[in-house]
Amino acid sequence: MNQSTFDVAIIGGGASGFFSACKIKEYNPNLKVCILEKSNKVLSKVKISGGGRCNLTHAINYNSELVKHYPNGKNFLKKVFQKFTVKDTIQWFEERGVKTKVEEDGRMFPVSDNSQSVIDTLIKNSVGLGVDLRTSFDVKHINKDNGLFHVTSRKEDVLMTSKLIIATGGYPKPNQFDWLVDLGHSINLPVPSLFTFNIPVEGLKHLMGLSVPNAKVQIVGEKLNYSGPLLITHWGLSGPAVLKLSAWGARMLNARDYQFEILVNWIGELSEQEIIEQIKSYKEKHPKRSVTSNSLFEIPQRLWGELMIRAQIDEKLNYADIGDKSINRMLEVIFRLPLKVLGKTTFKEEFVTSGGIHLNEVDNKSMQSKLIENLYFTGEVLDIDGITGGFNFQAAWSTATVAAEHITGINNRD
Ligand SMILES: Cc1cc2nc3c(=O)[nH]c(=O)nc-3n(C[C@H](O)[C@H](O)[C@H](O)COP(=O)(O)OP(=O)(O)OC[C@H]3O[C@@H](n4cnc5c(N)ncnc54)[C@H](O)[C@@H]3O)c2cc1C
Repeated sequence: MNQSTFDVAIIGGGASGFFSACKIKEYNPNLKVCILEKSNKVLSKVKISGGGRCNLTHAINYNSELVKHYPNGKNFLKKVFQKFTVKDTIQWFEERGVKTKVEEDGRMFPVSDNSQSVIDTLIKNSVGLGVDLRTSFDVKHINKDNGLFHVTSRKEDVLMTSKLIIATGGYPKPNQFDWLVDLGHSINLPVPSLFTFNIPVEGLKHLMGLSVPNAKVQIVGEKLNYSGPLLITHWGLSGPAVLKLSAWGARMLNARDYQFEILVNWIGELSEQEIIEQIKSYKEKHPKRSVTSNSLFEIPQRLWGELMIRAQIDEKLNYADIGDKSINRMLEVIFRLPLKVLGKTTFKEEFVTSGGIHLNEVDNKSMQSKLIENLYFTGEVLDIDGITGGFNFQAAWSTATVAAEHITGINNRD
């Protein structure tokens, strides 16, 4: 075996590439493994993930619940998570010195609140155990000859390997997949996921910074709606309700070129009837109070004032002055305020690409290509994406484990 022939080569020095290397070394320390990374840095997304804290997974005990957080890849991942689930992630990192903690919303971070502790552990358990790391190795072509893959970089460096893992992450542009399509694989076209909505013409800017804890946002003409905290920003709307919608509606919103209408219900949990009854009950108890100055349903006062303007409630009116017609107009702006979305902004904390290698071309029991023997795919290069909250890293760790188990012949849980 010469210097440039490996048992396993992994293309991509990100979360799933490094985890694959760690797992292969754990299962079979004797294998000759390399990671090929196009840039001169590795694990750069892990570094900036979760605002520099790395939201490495999400506290969910049951796989049936876990898979519900993936707009794409849910069925494929069912098998994958059977082999390496959230509990395994926590255990793996904790056994190697990365203690984790759960935040109120279920997101899990290292206790250090520093992504560097995750990076150090991944490097220690791969490169530290003999994995050959080659940076500035930008793979442009792969061909298979006599059972060996020949991997060629843009600088025309070539190396050979018996088994090959593609862990190159999501590409935003379709032509970036060309070298994988040349292998015979096909892709679901990439579109962005996890973005916020630009709402430039609705005059919400003066309310920026205000938020409500449980709004419901619906896309007009679609069944899609999501509830959760909603934040008014200087460009439009953000917060979990919007991010979830952007993930589940990624492809449909792309097809609409990010021009669509939404209906916002600012207090997601109440029915129309309950809202009307509560307004009427307040009116009876406090007839002399000004409508505009006395917000209901814990809607922030400035937002309430804006909603009352839109409901054409004169600021001089007291609750005693409003009749059924006014109450109905109030209901409309509280329960389904229409807003025009014109464009998107990529969320600075976390974004992913929806799309990638078609899942029907990959075996989810091994992550091996169904078209080319000994070729494997892990992580975001696949047509898998999760919502915000640690789900994308969980998919990276789990797909990497399944590939490593198959490559080394270890099958922990079949
Ligand atoms: C700002 C930001 C914050 C995020 N925060 C979180 C979070 O907190 N929690 C969470 O679960 N998810 C988060 N995500 C998503 C998460 O980072 C990704 O889903 C995850 O990194 C995917 O891992 P991967 O190994 O598949 O791909 P990547 O981490 O993208 O790694 C792929 C690697 O392959 C290299 N590569 C690509 N093409 C080639 C080539 N031809 N030759 C050689 N190398 C190549 C790339 O340079 C890269 O280093 C975040 C994403 C972003 C952008």
